[in-house]
Amino acid sequence: MSQHGVPSRVIADPFRFAAEHRTLEGVVPVADLLRLADSLASGESDLRWTLEGSTADGVEGPEPRLRLRVDGALDLLCQRCLGGLPWVLRVERVLHPVRAGQPIPEEELEDDQVDAIELEAELDVLALIEDEVLLAMPIAPRHEICTAPLPSGAASKESPFAALASLRGSPSAK
Ligand SMILES: [Zn+2]
Repeated sequence: MSQHGVPSRVIADPFRFAAEHRTLEGVVPVADLLRLADSLASGESDLRWTLEGSTADGVEGPEPRLRLRVDGALDLLCQRCLGGLPWVLRVERVLHPVRAGQPIPEEELEDDQVDAIELEAELDVLALIEDEVLLAMPIAPRHEICTAPLPSGAASKESPFAALASLRGSPSAK
């Protein structure tokens, strides 16, 4: 379906996509997801994703559902030593697309299994993947034990890690 090298990344009509039970899948280099790559130690891995359209019985008839799965390995940035921290990513989310401007069904607000998502006419799949991966990531990842810990309380010493920290720009330095 997709031309080689350029997988389709925009769904023109996600509501129809769901109603027709279509599936789209692909592989995206982490480096292509700029916001994500920015928060990692390195962006050299790939993420494999699947977006599966379906319908579920709602109060007023069939409702669209989009099941998103993303798998891969990320090299998180340890917030203590700024070293790489390997992490296995596995996202699985069921989304209920709602047309922009339409009210979000109330039962959805209490349901952890399904998340309503307000959509305009089309769906940018990569942006959705990036959002969901960012949500799934630990907020402040740290090694249990850093292999090269900063000297405790000896911040005055010029360690190579301190130099690295200033190069990379720690959150407190912004
Ligand atoms: Zn660490």
